[in-house]
Amino acid sequence: MEKQYDLVIIGCGPAGMSAAIYAKRAGIKVLILEKLVPGGQISLTSNVENFPGFSQIDGMQLGNLMFEQVKKLGVDVKFCEVTKLELLGKTKKITTPKEIFTSKSVVLAMGASPRQLGVLDEQKFVGRGISYCAVCDGALYKNKTVAVFGGGNSALEDVSYLCSVAKQVIHVNRRSEFRADNQNVEIYNKLVSQKPSKVKQYLGFVAEKLYGDKVLESVDLRNITTNEIINIKPDGVFVAIGRVPQTQILENQVNLDENGYVLVDENMQTNVKGVFAAGDITKKTLRQITTAVGDGSVAGTYASDYVKKLKVGK
Ligand code: NAP
Repeated sequence: MEKQYDLVIIGCGPAGMSAAIYAKRAGIKVLILEKLVPGGQISLTSNVENFPGFSQIDGMQLGNLMFEQVKKLGVDVKFCEVTKLELLGKTKKITTPKEIFTSKSVVLAMGASPRQLGVLDEQKFVGRGISYCAVCDGALYKNKTVAVFGGGNSALEDVSYLCSVAKQVIHVNRRSEFRADNQNVEIYNKLVSQKPSKVKQYLGFVAEKLYGDKVLESVDLRNITTNEIINIKPDGVFVAIGRVPQTQILENQVNLDENGYVLVDENMQTNVKGVFAAGDITKKTLRQITTAVGDGSVAGTYASDYVKKLKVGK
């Protein structure tokens, strides 16, 4: 038997939770579906310093506070993976392994997942030496040697965090310039200039080959200018080279840009009536908790407007 809702929100990160808060307060029946844990990507951030109202807060703690608010409002939340989405009709159908839901409206807030290095056997070593979350797995490498790939905020924050845990942090980035903001670059530069420094830099290098039997034993790095190969032997590798939008399941149902991000208008409405999107899954220039929260608030508000108009037959 299909369970009916006014609005189904897919994803329980800051965008999805904000959409739920606005829609529930607008008086419609809301369900959030989440395949992992509440909080989304912020659960992977150790230190958030740019969310107004908190000069410093742990990402997981911020996510938990949002989730408490959502639950207190009486929003239904189910932890399961959405396996099929049928969005084009007036009634939207959302299939999960055990249940099928129908709704008048949907907010897509599935966010983005870690981009992979793209080298052979990467999957084989996930959890066996390769991790995409320093905050989650960093503690396993106390007094050991780790490598961090990437030059954005995530990577530089990982370097900084891992310097407080590991004996040595090998930092690999494909360019000598960083995408991270000035504050993170300043902290990073201080760590690099310490004497002795825990950070060993390989700038202008990419991962070329992974070695190991059951666990990762070493990594070949390739200099992108000279093609020189250098072998490093970290105990663990942390990959922080950006994210890719979780839009595979949309199967050409809503319009995406050339990189797979969902295209929305100023009300976070996609090209499909009743289907909204919010947060990192959408095409935009600034992907932050604050912007996800803003998107979610708009999407939740316009999704509930849409549902109410449908109910009175407008
Ligand atoms: P990002 O800003 O997109 O940076 C990705 C990094 O990985 C760049 O250095 C990029 O190099 C490199 N890269 C991309 N593809 C690669 C590949 N195939 N091989 C090797 N290197 C590759 O990603 P992010 O650091 O995950 O951040 C994502 C978003 O979250 C950003 O908007 C960021 O500001 C935000 N964020 C904010 C905070 C905070 O404010 N505290 C913390 C974490 C993340 P190029 O520069 O050469 O492209």
